[in-house]
Amino acid sequence: MSNPVLDLAADPVDLTAALVDIESESRNEAAIADAVEEALRRQTTGFEILRHGNRVLARTNRGVGRRVILAGHLDTVPVAGNLPHRRETHPEEGDVLHGCGTVDMKSGDAVFLHLAATLDEPASDLTLIFYDCEEIAAEFNGLNDIERELPDWLTGDVAILGEPTAGLIEAGCQGTLRVRLSATGTRAHSARSWMGDNAVHKLGGLLTTLSAYEARRVDIDGCEYREGLSAVAVSGGVAGNVIPDAAHVDVNFRFAPDRSIDQALDHVREVFAADLADGVSLEVTDSAAGALPGLAHPAAAALVEAAGGRFRAKYGWTDVSRFSALGIPAVNLGPGDPNLAHRVDERVPVAQIRAVTDLLRSYLS
Ligand SMILES: [Zn+2]
Repeated sequence: MSNPVLDLAADPVDLTAALVDIESESRNEAAIADAVEEALRRQTTGFEILRHGNRVLARTNRGVGRRVILAGHLDTVPVAGNLPHRRETHPEEGDVLHGCGTVDMKSGDAVFLHLAATLDEPASDLTLIFYDCEEIAAEFNGLNDIERELPDWLTGDVAILGEPTAGLIEAGCQGTLRVRLSATGTRAHSARSWMGDNAVHKLGGLLTTLSAYEARRVDIDGCEYREGLSAVAVSGGVAGNVIPDAAHVDVNFRFAPDRSIDQALDHVREVFAADLADGVSLEVTDSAAGALPGLAHPAAAALVEAAGGRFRAKYGWTDVSRFSALGIPAVNLGPGDPNLAHRVDERVPVAQIRAVTDLLRSYLS
């Protein structure tokens, strides 16, 4: 089969549809990377273009004093009978494009590719980064490879990730910390329970602490972040006639980006201080730093201005925080309702693809 040919200069809605029809489940991005690379080489001028595994990078080097990074992943979650794309009129949402990746995030990729081919003399230097393996475990994320092997491609004044935000600027992101709180006791026959020491009972105080916990809301740069401390799993028990000698609760703390991972951990230790003093142990099982919104930076402020001053906080963890860790203010901005991502009925309103294209065109012109 011959490779699909993309037309970057055409309507970004049609370009989204063409990208959607190149199936690209994580680890299977070669075909879409080929098509994107070929189209960038054929239809852009003034870009240095680099192929690196299944990553495609392109940048201008005009030395105009400001550099904007536009980044998007090329992979999708597994197809769920929702390819090829379908375009139709939805009773409430109007003209929509259906299909795997329409929201997450080939519409965002399409906007970036279209702008690269059609903006002449943008006011900023541009770096485009299309990467692989975002939808699987973080260790496989293509940005890791770029950070390790091509660090000079990750410099800029602001990074825009085209993840779905329904066309709104979403700044920063919350951090996440997972800990396992474990209690131990002494095993015994439950007919002689006084001979044992029940580990499950020792979780009672922890669970009470969790249900009474009042999560903080904090305003940073005009974005409100709302934290959460939640039990996400509980486990313990040996058999129906045994006093259990071990039990644990997994707790996830989603924290605002004014706390570091260490500070978040200190907070969690403080919350469970009484239980820890009683012999419960705490083990960190997973963590990822948040990202400050960084909207005060001039390049980010200009983007907010182009969006009519509208922005909000991002709750989930996204690749924004990787850029933030490199000292680059980063936001999410892309077409599509994030709640529809990864769903069988994934669909994007055509008007949002056009709106994000127009917003970025005016920002970059
Ligand atoms: Zn995504």
